[in-house]
Amino acid sequence: MVPVALPGEPLRYEAAGAGHHHHFLCRGCGRAFELPGCRLEADLDLPPGFSAEDHEVVVYGRCPDCA
Ligand SMILES: [Zn+2]
Ligand SMILES: [Zn+2]
Repeated sequence: MVPVALPGEPLRYEAAGAGHHHHFLCRGCGRAFELPGCRLEADLDLPPGFSAEDHEVVVYGRCPDCA
């Protein structure tokens, strides 16, 4: 298990080796969801000489139960 720190959330633990993914925090019920997959770095337009190694993204919104 690996610790996952989300802003405003108690520390969560997830299975290691799940691969890179993002999290979705529902503002309605406060639950955190895993968002599989990521194309962010492929879409980044970094200036010359920069290379991305990692990033963290938290998406805020409403889950289907709260929409
Ligand atoms: Zn919700
Ligand atoms: Zn990503």
